[in-house]
Amino acid sequence: MVKQVSDGIFSIYVPLQGNPLKNLNAYYIKGKDRDLLVDTGFRTEACRKAILEGIEEAGGSMARADIFLTHAHSDHSGLAPELICGGSVYISEEDGRLLMVERINPERHLKNGFSREDIKHAGESPAEKYRSLPYKDYVFVAGGDKLTCGDRVLEVVSTPGHTPGHLCLYSQTDKVMILGDHVLFDITPNITEWPTLKNPLKRYLESLDKILEYDIDLPLPAHRGGETTVGRRIGEIKTHHIERLAEAERIVAEGAGMTPYQVASKMTWKIRASWEEFPIGQKWFAVGEAVAHLEYLVEAGRAKLALEDGVRMYSHT
Ligand SMILES: [Zn+2]
Repeated sequence: MVKQVSDGIFSIYVPLQGNPLKNLNAYYIKGKDRDLLVDTGFRTEACRKAILEGIEEAGGSMARADIFLTHAHSDHSGLAPELICGGSVYISEEDGRLLMVERINPERHLKNGFSREDIKHAGESPAEKYRSLPYKDYVFVAGGDKLTCGDRVLEVVSTPGHTPGHLCLYSQTDKVMILGDHVLFDITPNITEWPTLKNPLKRYLESLDKILEYDIDLPLPAHRGGETTVGRRIGEIKTHHIERLAEAERIVAEGAGMTPYQVASKMTWKIRASWEEFPIGQKWFAVGEAVAHLEYLVEAGRAKLALEDGVRMYSHT
């Protein structure tokens, strides 16, 4: 399914089966000699079929396309090494390096209060199952870099937070901002902890402000759709995190030292199930998000962190 969203920019609907995100919006930008595909979908047959059919429908082909990855997550990067056909795959260095290493050791979850039983299932997530094949030739780009595609100049905008090296792409000619997962319209982007990014929530909020500096007529998110203006949506996302921070602070104040796992179990979540019934995959996200908020509180002097037998314990200041 393909829709032309601006002159020479096509949105390709890529289904993410069984995933709460529902779909990826990949974008195909037509140039003169070369085109640019933004994001690819999971490394699954369903995604491959949708993206290749979409490119064809847009009048393009992988033989004339480069790929730009907004970030390293598998639903964006999964197919890139297999789709690229003589062109370049652009990504930030921070996220490119994430794709070039072996998967992160699940033992790291123990320090957040997960049990050994829990981490046995860490490799079963779609993020692991459908991640990209090893690839060594990523071309690193950074904020301020310009990519040309036909008459169009695309500015790379560095927006760390959702991942350490998340990138957006801005087309000045038609005031189009390709947002990746930085700003989504009917879901809140997941913010979690990263070994290579300190205080990710603070960095994320700063990266939201960066987007406000751009004149945007058409915001293009990587998942689902969007109706409101990007400025209004950024305001809503900021309010959400301010409320989440207050909630985490309240929870920490109730007890005498809590693991991120315990804090997450007391936070409110959209999913209609008790914490015990949460699928393990949702618990990874939830605990990661709790850590991101707790890290912010510690840096702001609103919570304290201590390590007990290698496990993080948060308490009120
Ligand atoms: Zn993502």
